[in-house]
Amino acid sequence: MKIYNTLTREKEEFKPIDSDIVKMYSCGPTVYNFAHIGNLRAYLFMDTLRRVLKYNGYKLKHVMNITDVGHMTSDQDEGEDKMMKAARRENKDPYEIADFYMKKFLEDIDKLNIDRPEIIARATEHIDVMEEYVKKIIENGYTYSTENTVYFDTSKLDKYGVLSNRKIEDQKAGARVEFDSKKKNISDFALWIKAPKEHIMRWNSFFGECYPGWHLECSAMSYKYLGDHFDIHTGGIDHIPVHHENEIAQSKGFSGKQPVNYWMHCNFLLVNGEKMSKSLNNLYTIDDLAKMGYEPLVYKMFNFTSNYRSQINFTIEAMDSAKIALSRLREGYLKHSEGTEKVSEDVIKDYENRFLEAINDDLNLPMAMSVVWDVVKNPVKSKDFQKLILKFDEVLGLGLINYKPDEVKLPEDVQELIKLRNEARRNKNWAESDRLRDELIKKGYTVKDTKEGTVVE
Ligand code: AMP
Ligand code: ZN
Repeated sequence: MKIYNTLTREKEEFKPIDSDIVKMYSCGPTVYNFAHIGNLRAYLFMDTLRRVLKYNGYKLKHVMNITDVGHMTSDQDEGEDKMMKAARRENKDPYEIADFYMKKFLEDIDKLNIDRPEIIARATEHIDVMEEYVKKIIENGYTYSTENTVYFDTSKLDKYGVLSNRKIEDQKAGARVEFDSKKKNISDFALWIKAPKEHIMRWNSFFGECYPGWHLECSAMSYKYLGDHFDIHTGGIDHIPVHHENEIAQSKGFSGKQPVNYWMHCNFLLVNGEKMSKSLNNLYTIDDLAKMGYEPLVYKMFNFTSNYRSQINFTIEAMDSAKIALSRLREGYLKHSEGTEKVSEDVIKDYENRFLEAINDDLNLPMAMSVVWDVVKNPVKSKDFQKLILKFDEVLGLGLINYKPDEVKLPEDVQELIKLRNEARRNKNWAESDRLRDELIKKGYTVKDTKEGTVVE
């Protein structure tokens, strides 16, 4: 299996540290608002990665965090805590905000049939782990403190910026905002912050009543569950220059080690060429899509048209195509489930090999889908193909095994026409029967005569 590693900027053969279990961490959501479908793309990528690893026979120990404290409106410690801001906006307690949006997020990922990580860890439930982690970094000499904040001193590292390959000096030259004058270097970041009076989320600690910096939670919680060296870390590409650089810095300060072998990042969902984001006010949620007539799995299908490392543009045309594709896939699956023909093992093996080759080439879903379509469209109707499509669905996660076509309720006028036509036929009134048939056809139905009477499609 080959995956692209942001750390080495190469597609590499995946080799887990332990042969039987893959240890993996994904940066999860900040639960201060509804997730938009751009955010959800990052978790669809996470889902595909999980499923492909499982398809290759690996067991997983996968952690995803839920950020419910400490994430400032800017990733670089400027602005205010997103949870506090949301609490003010909605006139609620930040804990209520976190509970509400976390529940909603988990519902959204379930609707997308995203395979949930084994461990979902909330930042506010791991404050003790974070405090111990900070104390060790302080003990190891990688920090300095101002009156209100314990900062990580990035100049203590041999190199800061291993993922994005940036130097501290470059950041200074390119910086747009004046950084907090109390920081020694622009890339230094807050680990532990004294809570101002109005900050409701606060914990008694070695530094007074404090709350943790955002970056700290991922290092501390991944350490707690996965140790100081694990296999894969995922996130969005926006995490590369700050959040993940800071995680690497913290781990070096804590254990002296680069914590992760493979860093993987998902690219953005665009709308009209711009990133979908709250600040640009161009976002859609899963609920918005439902109102537009797209079930959640249509959005999943839409994502399979591009590789996770490429940007993808959200358009109504593309969503309409994905909607048609999903129903064709379901129809094809049902067609094969009614099949009686046998297919040779060689033919099945050949499709399996092509599918495996595609997904193992850095999760190449567009290529894998072309194999799925070849099977779906195969004119030989066979249960062997049905089984094969179900096997592929272990990776796609479209829930085909539970798929049943909806029972369609016919509009009342159509039901009435059918009733009249059945009566006309019983009375051998063929002219009236033909007239009613034509009326049904005009309404867009095909009409069949069966022993049970008129059947429309
Ligand atoms: P947040 O909850 O704001 O911390 O973001 C959660 C995840 O959504 C992060 O991994 C971001 O990289 C990702 N994300 C945000 N906007 C987009 C977008 N337009 N397309 C894809 N991923 C995004
Ligand atoms: Zn993180």
